[in-house]
Amino acid sequence: MARPHESVVDGSPARTSAQPQDLPAVDRLLRSAAGQALLAEHGHTLVAGQARALLDECRAQARAGTLDTADAALPALAEALAARIAARLAPRMRRVLNLTGTVIHTNLGRALLADDALAQVMATMAGPNNLEYDLEAGGRGDRDSLVEELLCTLTGAEAATVVNNNAAAVLLTIAALAHAREGRREVVVSRGELVEIGGAFRMPDVMAAAGATLVEVGTTNRTHARDYERAIGERTALLMKVHTSNYAVQGFTAAVDEAELARIAHAHGLPVATDLGSGALVDMVAWGLPAEPTPQSKLAAGCDVVTFSGDKLLGGPQAGLIVGRRDAIEKIRRFPMKRALRMSKLPLAALEATLRLYLRPERLARDLPTLRLLTRAPAHIRAQAQALQPALAAAVAPRYAVAVVDTLGQIGSGSLPVERLPSAALAIAPVAKKGAGRALDALAAALRALPLPVVGRIADDRLLLDLRCLERSEELAAQLPALQERLA
Ligand SMILES: *Cc1c(COP(=O)(O)O)cnc(C)c1O
Repeated sequence: MARPHESVVDGSPARTSAQPQDLPAVDRLLRSAAGQALLAEHGHTLVAGQARALLDECRAQARAGTLDTADAALPALAEALAARIAARLAPRMRRVLNLTGTVIHTNLGRALLADDALAQVMATMAGPNNLEYDLEAGGRGDRDSLVEELLCTLTGAEAATVVNNNAAAVLLTIAALAHAREGRREVVVSRGELVEIGGAFRMPDVMAAAGATLVEVGTTNRTHARDYERAIGERTALLMKVHTSNYAVQGFTAAVDEAELARIAHAHGLPVATDLGSGALVDMVAWGLPAEPTPQSKLAAGCDVVTFSGDKLLGGPQAGLIVGRRDAIEKIRRFPMKRALRMSKLPLAALEATLRLYLRPERLARDLPTLRLLTRAPAHIRAQAQALQPALAAAVAPRYAVAVVDTLGQIGSGSLPVERLPSAALAIAPVAKKGAGRALDALAAALRALPLPVVGRIADDRLLLDLRCLERSEELAAQLPALQERLA
């Protein structure tokens, strides 16, 4: 009678499975030379914990008859322990190559930080800094003051404050301005601008969370000045415009612009706020990119408050920027919710350095990664794809073929939704039509599992690696041996 822990696989010679009692005790594994070396490097807590977990798993496998005798021996166990510890210590948050063709990709961390921003973070975060300390007066300072003057210079605002992200900026602005006047809670917004920007951020919900009462005016496609006029009453606190950053209403449309809305609001003694979302601080048209409204143009049109993101077109860290008239900004700054939404010192350091880049706009397309990537010439990207094609083709052969194709990418993060960016990609397609879908999924998984994970996009039965965001070809080339190994 065969012992239960003996197995015969595919007619190969019988391999003996280890018995639970063949496994060493935790202590013996730790006292081995390899165990001692691991203890010296990592200390007792991690090494002993992982040794216990490893031996528990091995014991379960032994009981099931699925543990090879060789794997139950000390050298193999020590090796497995070292691998477990390395995996446990490996960071979960990692760099990836964004070859999706979407430059500001929310799932991939949005804007890349400029060298100056990274340097500022490194220079100020390891030690104490003047986050809330006025170095001239030698007393308590305000963290806003680190960026307020810059924001005012760049946007023409009288005052500015910053919070954790733009969702927070909108929430805080509405809450502060709609609470500021007793009994006035109503915020008037056009039906065409009640945006959802993904996740839980939907304008009507934000209004409710801010304690305001939403008053919708107009229709989905057309809203007129008289619609706002009619909605204004004793309870009105604020008129609001929301930039439809991630969709476009086209065709038979009408909207009231900020200048007209400001005239209406101010005639009633009310403020106007605009949420821009994307946050382009310069005119994108100057770089051959689609037009995007700037905060300075909205302030010049008469808006009292403008809110926008730090990590979309502005190209900085996650942040919510609020600029506008001094009295409105003061109300927002003093509202208690501000303390809960305030920016942390780490992104604040990066934001200050990013904003400083805008003082030299002529250098911006070089110094600001977001603009650098957005302005890369399609011909350059195509040439780069052609140079990489032979090596990639060799790595994925014989199951896949590689061609260079023209593509249309996106700016991303809800910025300029209908505009596409001409680009070029390496298109990888399975050679066999049968099982092509599975082959594509396997390829995408192999790319994601690389030491530097590669994220592309699947379209028309091909996996596209759009090279707009690949500034250094070597980074992809260096992954190819590992890719070849994974697909073998
Ligand atoms: C992106 C966006 C927001 C939210 O900004 P976050 O910085 O992601 O919090 C708000 N409003 C509009 C119109 C947006 O496009």
